[in-house]
Amino acid sequence: MYTNLGLIGNPLSHTFSPFIHNYFLYKAGICGGYTCYDIESYELEDIILMFQRYHFTGVNVTVPYKQAVMNYCAELDITAQNIGAVNTLHFTDNGIIGHNTDIFGFHMMLETSAVNTANKRVLLLGAGGASRAVIPYLTINRPDYFVIANRTVEKAQDLSLLYDNKADICKLDELKGLEFDIVINATSMGVKGEPYTDYGFTIKEAAVDMIYKPKITSFLSLYSKNNIKLVNGLPMLIYQAAGSFNIWTGCDITPDMEYFNKAVYK
Ligand code: NAP
Repeated sequence: MYTNLGLIGNPLSHTFSPFIHNYFLYKAGICGGYTCYDIESYELEDIILMFQRYHFTGVNVTVPYKQAVMNYCAELDITAQNIGAVNTLHFTDNGIIGHNTDIFGFHMMLETSAVNTANKRVLLLGAGGASRAVIPYLTINRPDYFVIANRTVEKAQDLSLLYDNKADICKLDELKGLEFDIVINATSMGVKGEPYTDYGFTIKEAAVDMIYKPKITSFLSLYSKNNIKLVNGLPMLIYQAAGSFNIWTGCDITPDMEYFNKAVYK
């Protein structure tokens, strides 16, 4: 049997996901393939019908369709319900099940980097889709003090609702002079390698960026001389993929991070 997997989003030109999943298929000894579908929003329904017609096992979902695909799910697992976004569709005999493995990816990024937010002063930069994956982790590993800063402050307020409204909210330019133990960048600033604005806060322990390219991203490079831990988004990317792969195939792959580091940063 051939295991059909894929990805929908727009744009997808720089995605690394086919490399990861085809490697997982190879490692698990499963005959199959992972294909990208860079679609417009009006094509969403047709492509989902196509996935069902051709017996796809599963599909990843990325920007801007993580909310829209929820309309096609017969069921949402607890991870997707928690943050109101789906990054993994599983086609089953009981219909399409929506999951969110970004939460697992974020959790594993911190765990494998030996960073823990419990009892720390934590700043989250950004309040878009990816920042939602941070909240379940923080709910378990509760910081002493938690601030969400975003360019559009209303979106930070919305995000804070997922954290029982217990986060402080501010704009990015109100951070000057503040000190944090751990700062997580979930904005897309710097994603094209452009310089990251220095908002004048200091970091004592770890700078964590969801962006993974280059290895020292624009955000991380601001703190590279500060003798703190620098964590880029590659572990999150790889572990969210491993989470999806596990849902689709039942195979529990332990990603070889050394291999992926070499492949991405060669
Ligand atoms: P999104 O929903 O579009 O949100 C983008 C966020 O960035 C918003 O908070 C936005 O602020 C902020 N932003 C964008 N441009 C900005 C600028 N010039 N100055 C200040 N803030 C700016 O995107 P997303 O899905 O959350 O993704 C965010 C980043 O995480 C992306 O770079 C993505 O590649 C990365 N990501 C990585 C992984 C991984 O596995 N490593 C997974 C998911 C996402 P406003 O609300 O004011 O617009």
